[in-house]
Amino acid sequence: MIGIIGAMEVEMEALRALLEERQDTELGTNVFSTGLLFGREAVLAVCGCGKVNAALCTQQMILTWHPEAILNIGVAGGADPGLHIGDIVVGTAAVQHDMDTTPMGDPIGYVSKIGVVEFPCDPDLRARLKEAAGAIPDIRVLEGVIATGDQFVNQPARTAWIRETFHAAAVEMEGAAVAHACLLHGVPCGVLRSISDGANDDSGMDFAAFTHLAAEHAQTVVRHLLAGT
Ligand code: SAH
Repeated sequence: MIGIIGAMEVEMEALRALLEERQDTELGTNVFSTGLLFGREAVLAVCGCGKVNAALCTQQMILTWHPEAILNIGVAGGADPGLHIGDIVVGTAAVQHDMDTTPMGDPIGYVSKIGVVEFPCDPDLRARLKEAAGAIPDIRVLEGVIATGDQFVNQPARTAWIRETFHAAAVEMEGAAVAHACLLHGVPCGVLRSISDGANDDSGMDFAAFTHLAAEHAQTVVRHLLAGT
């Protein structure tokens, strides 16, 4: 079984509509939809925005359905200046840009207990996501670090800091929390994002205008991944 998590309804509705033999199960704070996606067993959930919502949902999904891999998909702000609306970023790793225990001598972004800055994305899933993203015409597909934090990033100085500090390609609010829970449980994970805004002064308006398009792109990539086309 594959697990797929998005933060917002718009990021999951196209895939959920394709789920055959769908069953909805309310567990804890989330509704999990299970069924068949292109003949493959899948469990889908909308976790809500932010790291805590994402981590709670991921752990519940893992403990209940034991998926062989989890994908976090959705929209993001572009941190790499070469990215445009609708482009795809396949995560090589995810970081928590708002995690900061540097006064204790830790590196920026270091997550204690697990002891890492970068949460890895599964190399096999990455390769397959990149190939599947090739099915969307006229967009750029980039592999890079996804930077996660509990803030909607729209200040160019903050975006530049995140890009330079973590070599980040995109900023969002869940990917590293999903990857964190997956790493703690030994579940392979992939993070796939499509660009809804430039993480800049226009982001509030761009996010409202382009989230639907970007969310469609991310779900289209997953469709191609699962359908094998
Ligand atoms: N109350 C709003 C909150 C949206 S927050 C709602 O529920 O619709 C923005 C969402 O899109 C997050 O899930 C995040 O992962 C992603 N995102 C898109 N652009 C972003 C940006 N510039 N900074 C941070 N997150 C961004």
